[in-house]
Amino acid sequence: MQGPWEDRDGVLRYRTRSGVELYRLPTRLFPELDGYVYLILTDSHRVLVDAGSGLPESWEDLQRGLEIVRARYGRPVDLPDLTAILITHGHIDHFGGLTFVRQRSPAPVFVHELDRRVLVNYPERLITVARELRHFLSQAGASPERQAALLDLYLSMKTMFQSTSVEGLLAEGELLFGIFRVHHTPGHCPGQVCLQIDEVLLTSDHILAHTTPHQAPERITRYTGLGHYLESLRRVAAIPDIALAFGGHEDPILNLYERIAAIETFHHQRLERVLEICQEPRTIMEISRTLFGRQYGYGVLLALLEAGAHVEYLYDRGYLQVANLDQLEKEPEAPIRYRRL
Ligand SMILES: [Zn+2]
Ligand SMILES: [Zn+2]
Repeated sequence: MQGPWEDRDGVLRYRTRSGVELYRLPTRLFPELDGYVYLILTDSHRVLVDAGSGLPESWEDLQRGLEIVRARYGRPVDLPDLTAILITHGHIDHFGGLTFVRQRSPAPVFVHELDRRVLVNYPERLITVARELRHFLSQAGASPERQAALLDLYLSMKTMFQSTSVEGLLAEGELLFGIFRVHHTPGHCPGQVCLQIDEVLLTSDHILAHTTPHQAPERITRYTGLGHYLESLRRVAAIPDIALAFGGHEDPILNLYERIAAIETFHHQRLERVLEICQEPRTIMEISRTLFGRQYGYGVLLALLEAGAHVEYLYDRGYLQVANLDQLEKEPEAPIRYRRL
């Protein structure tokens, strides 16, 4: 993709209005997921934004990216020289690499306070979310066998990360180091932040160029959910004069405001579609199947959560009602059937 940046060996460099240098380093995060770590350089700061996934391949890619910054761009920077590490949100593909990076770098780690717990107490986070997830899956209509299989898959990530300390917080509205304006944009993740550097916005997973970022119901994790997400889109749409946005995955975004409008339209169409499906009483499992077709492995969980987020949004606002109240009164754990009001 062409744009107002340089590309040397796959590492993009962009210089912002005030002369801040931004480097985008590509990494393979998981076998089927690519993304980026960003390096921000000024005269006095060398800041890493996100750290990769923590899989060996991601770590090798990060080191290769830094090597390209040194060899092809002539900037003598390495992990021990970093002045700070900022984590854009508490998802493993963005912070898992801290396990490696912190062995080489004494730099303080910053994250939004709503995602701090994930980094400092990772096993607790997984186990408590798994409890909420079990309840959600049961009410969504997943069979006990399917619930067990999906929870096993979810908890298998437990060994991927060793909890770490957090030295600083990314607070809404602050101008960190005189470089990064912090915008708190909860929805995709409770502590999701977008970081503004002059006319550039690092949108992380809040806004991506091609896919609409994954949603999950707020009943599983507070400050997520489609309601928060759409509000956070409006918040970013109100930031003036963003000329270029870089996401945690996918291409740079040359017209952020158009991209936000497209994502909003997408969700409103999906909400309409859920209402259509619920002309007849439906469980979240059935809605997910109609929306996304047959899914496999982790895809089943992602589809159920995405469907659940849209159902929750409509139910909370009184567009859906529970169709099997009598049954729920007798069997509180029975799957809920939703009908359009
Ligand atoms: Zn994410
Ligand atoms: Zn991500």
